[in-house]
Amino acid sequence: MFCPACRAEYPKGIITCDRCNVPLVDHLRGTASLTSSPPRLWVGYVFTAVFLMAKIVEDLTNQGAFEPGTPVLFLACVGEFLAALGGSFYWLFCVGRIHEILLEATDGQYPITPTRAGLYHFIPFYNLYWVVKWPNEIARFVNRRLPQKRMMIGVPGALLLVGALLKGALGLAVIFTVGVYLSRRVQAAVAAPVALPSRDSLEVPVEDMFSQAIGLEQEGEWEKAIALYERIAEKLQGYQDAEYAKNCARAVREKIALTGGA
Ligand SMILES: [Zn+2]
Repeated sequence: MFCPACRAEYPKGIITCDRCNVPLVDHLRGTASLTSSPPRLWVGYVFTAVFLMAKIVEDLTNQGAFEPGTPVLFLACVGEFLAALGGSFYWLFCVGRIHEILLEATDGQYPITPTRAGLYHFIPFYNLYWVVKWPNEIARFVNRRLPQKRMMIGVPGALLLVGALLKGALGLAVIFTVGVYLSRRVQAAVAAPVALPSRDSLEVPVEDMFSQAIGLEQEGEWEKAIALYERIAEKLQGYQDAEYAKNCARAVREKIALTGGA
């Protein structure tokens, strides 16, 4: 059994991942089967450039560079408005797309749906919290899959908030740059290999220890089995099977709880 969110392996009998709180699945989905493609965030810089140009034209007009009455100022204002509006909606589309990938990669277990990710930006005041909240959820997802390349919780969200408050071309540039970063990290996490380094590279007789623990479990020496699984987990720290051993210990504990220790 596997967790579709963090990909930890669990022995039979356990039905949810205690880290992610999601139901386990029999097989993990391969990344090749993903149908959502990453958003083209560079388009955001086109909106940024249009906004910047419109702003420059506007300033030049105000300084008397163009004859009054020419449509230049009007066009600049329209350009600025469309770039701001288009940039904002395009950003929400990108946020939705990133969440589509997350939902697909976790077999529908990712806690934030694409629709919710976009729509919550329209709730006054709550949206100030939301722009920090959803990137944090992404960071937690990335950190579970790529524990060796952790993302800082809070930083991307704080930058998005700064971008939103800055407004204008600079604001758009900040937001889309954070978007490029988030999208890249999500892609890396989604494509991360299922297994951590194999225990084959370790010179620990864990195989024997595993069979010994399973034997103890079958004989009903549950406390001893738990202790052994935990020792294996300690020896294998940082390896895929450490999680597996921990999960085995947990399975035995659940058995004890179910049978009331009998
Ligand atoms: Zn999990």
